Amino acid sequence: MGRDGWSNLHTRGGVVNPSFINVPSDDLLGTLRTIGQAVAGRGGSFEEGVQGREVFVDICPPNRQSRVRVFTTITCGAGNVRACGDDAIRFVVGRVFEDDRGKVRFQPLAKSRKMLRTAPTKLSPEERVEVFLKRLTTNLRTAYGEALKHPTCPACGSIMGLRTPKAGQSWTAFYGCCAYPDCRSTSRSTLK
Ligand SMILES: [Zn+2]
Repeated sequence: MGRDGWSNLHTRGGVVNPSFINVPSDDLLGTLRTIGQAVAGRGGSFEEGVQGREVFVDICPPNRQSRVRVFTTITCGAGNVRACGDDAIRFVVGRVFEDDRGKVRFQPLAKSRKMLRTAPTKLSPEERVEVFLKRLTTNLRTAYGEALKHPTCPACGSIMGLRTPKAGQSWTAFYGCCAYPDCRSTSRSTLK
C-alpha cells in the first residue's frame, strides 16, 4: 500500500478544515506499527489489513483473546471527498474468531474510542505532527490497557465483553461472556 495510491483528506463539505493534520499514510501506519510493537511487547503480535474503506492495524497482546484494532480512514483517489467524521481514528477492543462458515470475523468487545485527526493550528507543521503522534500513542496505550482488563470467562474460557449502560439506565457496567446466549456468565472482577 504505497503513498501514491492513497491520500488522506480532511474536508467538511469539500472545504479543508484547517485544524486537520495531514499525516502521510505511510507515516501514520509506520508510527502505529512502531507503537504497536512496543505496546504488544515480547510475544505479542501485530497484524494489519483492510476492512471496507478503512485500513486497520491490530495490536495483539501475548496470550490473550482480546486485541486493539485501530481503524484509520485512508481514502483511495484524491477526488473522493469524505465527511470530516471519517477523519477520526478509531480504537476498538475486540476479538477475532471463526464463524460457523469458517470465516474470520472481528467482534468488538467494548465501545470504541475515537480521536479526530487534528492538531492546533498555531504550531509549526513539525510540532503539529509531534503533538498528534503523542495523542495517538496515549490513546493506543489506554485502549491496550483496556484490552488487558477483559477477563476470561470462568465457565467456558471465552473472552468477556464490556457491557455499559446508556444514559438514563440504572444498571452498572459489567463483563459478559462473548459466548452469550450459550454462556450467561458475567463478571465485575476487573472493573474499578
Ligand atoms: Zn462463558
